[in-house]
Order: sequence, then structure tokens, then C-alpha cells
Amino acid sequence: MDSWFSNKYSPNTILNTRIRKTLFKGVSKYQKIEILDSYDFGRMLVLDGIVNVSEYDEFIYHEMMVHTPLFTHSNPGKILVIGGGDGGIVRELSKHPRIKEIDLVEIDPMVVDNCKRFLPFVGVGFKEPRLKVHFQDASQFIKNKENSYDVIIIDAPDPIGEGKRLFQKMFYKNCFLALKEDGLLTAQSETPTFKKELKIMKSIYTKMNMVFPIVKMFTAYIPSYTIGIWCFAFCSKKYDPLINFQKNRYKKLSIKNLYYNDNIHQASFALPNYLKDMF
Ligand code: SAM
Repeated sequence: MDSWFSNKYSPNTILNTRIRKTLFKGVSKYQKIEILDSYDFGRMLVLDGIVNVSEYDEFIYHEMMVHTPLFTHSNPGKILVIGGGDGGIVRELSKHPRIKEIDLVEIDPMVVDNCKRFLPFVGVGFKEPRLKVHFQDASQFIKNKENSYDVIIIDAPDPIGEGKRLFQKMFYKNCFLALKEDGLLTAQSETPTFKKELKIMKSIYTKMNMVFPIVKMFTAYIPSYTIGIWCFAFCSKKYDPLINFQKNRYKKLSIKNLYYNDNIHQASFALPNYLKDMF
């Protein structure tokens, strides 16, 4: 019998989407985990009632979060993924032969197990031979990792529960220290669509600007996350994503993406005035 999932875009705005089947429902030490098969968004990973991944549009998010930094850094050898328990970020990283090692720090093994089992389109990332998975709190893992990584990708959930710690200034400071002298990071940085979320965004960028010399916002539309634009933060010690775009490597690799390309790379940093003025 069909049922409905209420996707809460904010405490006051909900999108109901019809569900064909509940593939998994469980509670780990950290959160409620559901894997739903929906008619319009395909299979979805829902954590504490919030859509984290949907088959319908996950490629937009994962391609933007990975190829934007990877085609900016001049020699991305060692990568750290924060969160990322569905595997989608690593799936995109695996398209870059220059990478030597990938560390992924995910607090919840139950997320990884079920994404491997029910969401193979992202879970495939865990087959990547260069990957090492660490099951622990990333806010602890990141301490004392000075000068270790070229690129860090903060694939955190919303700032709730365990995810809260991944939005604190101290965490960004430790990421800064863990990056090499020309390191850079991308982080999902929520949406300005609603007032409450806009407030969260402002605090994210205020903290990042206190830690990194270069902080830029780039955007994409991810319908399963919100009705408006979704934002990403690009934080860098040295490289500028528009000036240092690695055109030759981009052309040589010619990765078959569904969303990201060299024009999107440039255009995603073009912000509407209401955002430009705000950050
Ligand atoms: N793309 C999704 C989004 O934007 O909401 C997030 C993807 S991924 C599923 C987020 C992962 O972060 C989850 O698997 C969650 O268990 C993990 N996580 C939350 N807090 C964490 C922490 N403190 N340390 C490590 N992983 C954490």
C-alpha cells in the first residue's frame, strides 16, 4: 500500500512525496535511518527525517562538491572526506587518477552498511581501492592532523545531532591546520531559502571567514533538499577556484558528468545580488 513521506523544507514548509516501499528503517546509536523508494525522487536516504541523498538529484550535489575543488587544486594527492557515509563523494573522487589516498570519516557504520546494500548508485564508492574508512566522530579525528591533506570535503548532514560539531569554528580551524600550505576545502553550506536556514548560513560563512583567507560561495539547485538554491562553501589557503581552474587536466580527463562542466564551474560562483551583498 503506498504511503507518503513529508520532506520538511523548513518547520513551516513540507513537500509530501509518495513512497512505493520502505526498504529499511532503523535507529543507530546516532540517528534514525530510513531508506525509502519513492515515485518521483527514486531511492532516498533519510536521516532523522531529513533527505540526505536522493537518486533523482544526488549527482548534482556530489559532482559539484568534488570536481569544483579537484579541478582547482594543482596536485590533489591526499583527500579527506568528512561524513559522506552514502559513498557518493568517493564515487566522484574515484574519477580522478591523480589521487593517491582517500580518508573518509563517518560516525555511523549503519549508514554505510545500508547505503552499500540499498543505494548501489552511491554505495559503489566504497569499492574504491584508494579509500580508507574511519568510523568515528570527525570533529575528534581532525585533531592533530597538521599538514596532512590537499583537499577536504565536508559532506556533513544539516547542523543537527552529531552533525552540529561539523559546523563549529573550532572544527573549521582544525580543518585549516590539517590542510597543507596550498590546501582547500568544500563544504555543503545549506540554503538561504527560508529565514531560519539563512541565519544558519550566515553563521557558517562568518566562522569560515575568520579561519580561511579565501572563502567563496557557489551554488546549484537540488530539489530534494529545498525549493530554492543550495549553497556550497569553497575555502582555500592559496588557490582561487576561478583563476586556478585546471583547464588542461579537465580537458584531458574529460570525465562523463551529468551536471558539472567547465562552464558550470565558473558560473556556479556567480551569485545573485541578495546573496553577494549578504556574505
Ligand atoms: N549530502 C548530505 C547532506 O548534504 O545532507 C550528507 C551526506 S552523508 C549521509 C552525511 C553523513 O555525516 C551521515 O552519514 C552522518 O552519519 C555523518 N555524520 C554526522 N555527524 C558526523 C560526525 N560528527 N562525524 C562523522 N560523520 C558524521
